[in-house]
Amino acid sequence: MSNDASTPATQRTGLGLQALTALAFCGLLLVFGAGAVALEWQTDQRRARERALSIVEERADILAGQAADALRVADGATLETLALSIAHRNASLGVRVVGTDGSVLVSDVARPDAVKLLERLTRARADRVVSVYEPELVAAAAPVRLDGVLVGVLAVAAERAPLEAGQGGSAVRLALLMLGVLALAIPAAMWLGQKVLAPLGPIVAFIDGLGEKQLADRLAPKDVLARGEFGELAAACNRMADRLQQSYRRLQRMAYSDTATGLPNHERFARDVTEFLSTRQEDVGALFVVRLDRLERIFDAIGQDAGDELLTRIVGRLSAAVRAIDRMVRTETCVERPSQLARLRGGDFGVLAPRLRGPEDAARYAQLLASALNQPFDWRENKLVLGAVIGAAILPQDGADADTAIRHAMLAMAAAKTDTGRMKFFTKALDREANAQLAFEREMRVALENNEFRAFFQPKIDLMTGRVIGAEALARWVKPDRTMVSPGRFIPAAEENGLIGSISDIIMRDACWKAASWAREGFPISVAINISPLQFADERFTDKVLRIMAEAGVQPNRVELEITESVALENPDRALRLLEPLRAEGVKVSLDDFGCGHSSLASLTRLPFDIIKIDQQFVRALAKDRHAPAIIEMILAMAASLDYTVVAEGVETEHEAEFLRRRGCQIGQGFLYGAAMPAPDFLRFNVERAGHLAGFPSARAV
Ligand code: C2E
Ligand code: MG
Ligand code: MG
Repeated sequence: MSNDASTPATQRTGLGLQALTALAFCGLLLVFGAGAVALEWQTDQRRARERALSIVEERADILAGQAADALRVADGATLETLALSIAHRNASLGVRVVGTDGSVLVSDVARPDAVKLLERLTRARADRVVSVYEPELVAAAAPVRLDGVLVGVLAVAAERAPLEAGQGGSAVRLALLMLGVLALAIPAAMWLGQKVLAPLGPIVAFIDGLGEKQLADRLAPKDVLARGEFGELAAACNRMADRLQQSYRRLQRMAYSDTATGLPNHERFARDVTEFLSTRQEDVGALFVVRLDRLERIFDAIGQDAGDELLTRIVGRLSAAVRAIDRMVRTETCVERPSQLARLRGGDFGVLAPRLRGPEDAARYAQLLASALNQPFDWRENKLVLGAVIGAAILPQDGADADTAIRHAMLAMAAAKTDTGRMKFFTKALDREANAQLAFEREMRVALENNEFRAFFQPKIDLMTGRVIGAEALARWVKPDRTMVSPGRFIPAAEENGLIGSISDIIMRDACWKAASWAREGFPISVAINISPLQFADERFTDKVLRIMAEAGVQPNRVELEITESVALENPDRALRLLEPLRAEGVKVSLDDFGCGHSSLASLTRLPFDIIKIDQQFVRALAKDRHAPAIIEMILAMAASLDYTVVAEGVETEHEAEFLRRRGCQIGQGFLYGAAMPAPDFLRFNVERAGHLAGFPSARAV
């Protein structure tokens, strides 16, 4: 294993530990050495004391003998001489001889402290040799005997230092020896530490390497002591590196690939686009965003397992298409640098075609991609149409960075939904439009917070009697300065950005409260409320409607919910599940804009509704299109046989009203009677119309 970068760290760690080991070793040596020196010093002290005492005792004993001799001859002068000789003997401080009767026979003492000491010793009159050891002096007393009879005591004192000289050396010698040993021990300990800790270096370097993502490295047995604790440590490090490497690979897979398809994901795709943008030269690239917008509906219908299988097939088909187009458009570069396919999210896929010769190649690529993906697809004896919508951006002109390029292709894709070819290239105008839409959305959010949305009511007229039998609540945006934003502008925008759900909730609440108050004022009018696909997508839809009706105190049979054909038919079972409980309470359900969707007559019978609203385009066509009367007649005939009530929308002329009435259409709604108006105006309209009708009882007079 090699790791040059981490060598200094290794050395640092090695030296640190070695120094520590040496320090610990020397510390131990020092403690033991100091102990031994202290013991030796004590022994020295004891020896010196014993020597001093034995000298002085011996001296006292000898002198006592000499004193006895002098006494035998009863010669005071001899005693004096003895005393003098003692006084001059080195280190002796004096002598004192006392008779048994207490008489001082000789006293020749040089120092006052020695005087006291000798007096004390001679007073004791010991019958054997005794000695005392003082801080500076030693003294001894010995009995003076004449022919075995005790006749006195002799005491002699001496300075301690000369007697003890030369007795303290062994402790000093030992201390010097210890220092010598210590001086040798430090490098020895360092050397030993280095030897013992040597395998730690590669291990530390290895762990440092792991921290720097060198996950493929492993510790070899030669790097460390293969056995023992370091061997185990190295093996554990290798196991840890194995696991880290596996986790890292898994994380990378998860971070950069789509788990369901194994294709690169959005992040990876963005990285590839960035790489292309930063490495390209004269060439251009194309970025396509492909949305298979029927995919989710197909998955819902076929279930999870079959969905997974289908997804695999679709990915296979997509990559085959991309490879084939590569060969046709990018003949020279496709092998070396193939186009990349990625799954961005859900039913959105991305294709990056690098190294194109120019925008013409991008256009050709796009056309081929669109036609390949719009071919029906064989799957389990069925023909599936994936419904691909494609947005394209040319690189680098439509995006100098990956995010912008992808966002622009997405914008083109959103615009392509309504395009006949279902394929669009990004243009600057699209960008401007998207920005304007964003600004409008922000404005709409502020308006929502400021309660600028409210329900206006358009009357629904009983074509036979001319009476107002109901109203449709339509959302209106009234700004604080009383100006109105056209519903033709904000409703499609709200449907696009999802705010229609919140707006419709407000309208539903407003309409229910108004219907309840009109009923209290003697106008029991039913009110129709438009339901947005977003509201209907919420599983709690039924409960929400029930709760709003209860809070408003409106009778459910005064409430009508208008649902468009496409919403109801998208999932008829769901429509049944959500609407049946409401119908059981008395709520009516109407199928709005009937004739615009693709309802099959068979599916109509499965849907839980009571009213059909003929779309206004058929009514408007009455004057212009010779087939229009036949279509309306057909709808009316079908509704009659299935027992649905029919409302005709967009009645603008008396001629249209007359036609509808004659064909048996019960209810009309349109500018002929009145446009949507604020609640107070609607109430006034009702009162006036009731009064008007009272004067003209015949229905024909309407
Ligand atoms: P819709 O439910 O079919 O509503 C009827 C539309 O036709 C209304 O347009 C109404 O003003 C218009 N209209 C009525 N009589 C005539 C007529 O004689 N001639 C012509 N040319 N038009 C007539 P508006 O208010 O612009 O609403 C458009 C659509 O917006 C509505 O179609 C409805 O689908 C949706 N919408 C309106 N309010 C709401 C709401 O509160 N929630 C939801 N989810 N959608 C709403
Ligand atoms: Mg409606
Ligand atoms: Mg309608």
